[in-house]
Amino acid sequence: MTAFTRAHCRCVVVQNYGYDQAAQKLKIKSDWLRANIGKLPHQKFGHNQAVFCDCDLRLVQAMHTVLPSEALAVIDRPAPEEGPAPAQPAVPAYAALRPAQGRRRQPAGI
Ligand SMILES: [Zn+2]
Repeated sequence: MTAFTRAHCRCVVVQNYGYDQAAQKLKIKSDWLRANIGKLPHQKFGHNQAVFCDCDLRLVQAMHTVLPSEALAVIDRPAPEEGPAPAQPAVPAYAALRPAQGRRRQPAGI
């Protein structure tokens, strides 16, 4: 299915890569990109070759990320320091704030 959306793209400026540059960034063979282009996010301008922005490449990377169950178990496990949210926020509520006491003036002559 072809969708014409760039919702995944966060590029602020246009910087596209051809097959060879994209393959170099992904550390793969450009032949693989060419052979699988129909299943990969890319940009196509008429008869020009497909091009990729960094967001396209990140999506390709996510599509082909292998996470064994051992890795998923680590990701799903909360970190030891994580727990229920503290009862008292670290920052006091606005209503509890009191004006700071001004500095006491030092007696003259010291
Ligand atoms: Zn992008």
